[in-house]
Amino acid sequence: MQIKLNITPLEDWGLGLSRKEPLLISGPCSAETEEQVLETALRLNKQKIHLLRAGIWKPRTRPNSFEGIGSPALKWLKKASKETGLPVTCEVANVKHVYEALRMGVDILWLGARTTVNPFAVQEIANALVDVDIPVMVKNPVNPDLALWIGALERLNGSGITKLAAIHRGFSSHSQTRYRNIPLWEIPIEMMRRIPELPMICDPSHICGRRDLLQEVSQKAMDLNFDGIMLESHINPAKALSDAKQQVVPEKYGEIVNSLVIRKTSTDDVMVQHTLDDLRELIDEKDQEVISILVERMGIAERIGDYKRENGITILQPARWDELIRGRVEAGEKLGLSQQFMQDLYNAVHNESIRHQTKVMNKAAV
Ligand code: PEP
Ligand code: MN
Repeated sequence: MQIKLNITPLEDWGLGLSRKEPLLISGPCSAETEEQVLETALRLNKQKIHLLRAGIWKPRTRPNSFEGIGSPALKWLKKASKETGLPVTCEVANVKHVYEALRMGVDILWLGARTTVNPFAVQEIANALVDVDIPVMVKNPVNPDLALWIGALERLNGSGITKLAAIHRGFSSHSQTRYRNIPLWEIPIEMMRRIPELPMICDPSHICGRRDLLQEVSQKAMDLNFDGIMLESHINPAKALSDAKQQVVPEKYGEIVNSLVIRKTSTDDVMVQHTLDDLRELIDEKDQEVISILVERMGIAERIGDYKRENGITILQPARWDELIRGRVEAGEKLGLSQQFMQDLYNAVHNESIRHQTKVMNKAAV
């Protein structure tokens, strides 16, 4: 199901962006001192960059950590903007933040992950923006809930905000992974499918939580056709008052964005298109085979269901399931398929199998 929003494309946001270049955003996680903001901005301005970011009010998980300088830091951001000519953006989490940011002439606002989760907060911010022509970027909520993310965009659009973008910053997870916030790329991809005209920006800093993965995740975002990148930078990352592990010096940011390979989504070359079409035809055939095999597999599952019913055996035998999934994951891994993929695949196949067996198990006795 596609969702209709009234969206102004990034090229018309007045940032001097051309159609196919990614929007590049950088700046500190938090504005800490006037010198830090100015020096970061001046050094960033020597790199490829379109928009300067800085956190003014910081939503921290636990109290007693640095919660941002607050309103006084807005002046530093504006000064940095004046000295570099760069437009600036900051996070707003309530109506007071909105008024102060607007009063100081912040060019673009963004909603943080902890705000997008809260429809009351988003609606209040949206109400404060009626009749204001300002771009707003909306980070995904901390939990992997696409509807909530879309809901926030709809609330802003309902207030007449059309310069809207989404920022993918990953999702909180209970388990330890290599990422600070697991990317779950399928969620932004589904957002692109539902709202194709919505600009989608990636925030590798909050996904990775560590410097060494930034390059890889930034390139992945480009290869998934994202429209921009937001990377945190700091003149002395190790001493940063927030998110020290994921920030890079402005020059390193420059290195990352310069090394990005920007590919196109389509080609004018007839031969290239022809070869692609041929390969895609092969994929379509294979998918048809996969579907036919799955249908056959479910047919066998139903026969098993029948047999279990006649003999009073439960659908699930945990030991058999444990043996099956372990064996399939191992077999797939040996042939180059990832463990995660095999687990997801077989969990889905097994659920469908249980559904078929349940149908047979509970059919009225004839
Ligand atoms: C940030 O951008 O510094 C920030 C707080 O991000 P998020 O809302 O993604 O946690
Ligand atoms: Mn941060």
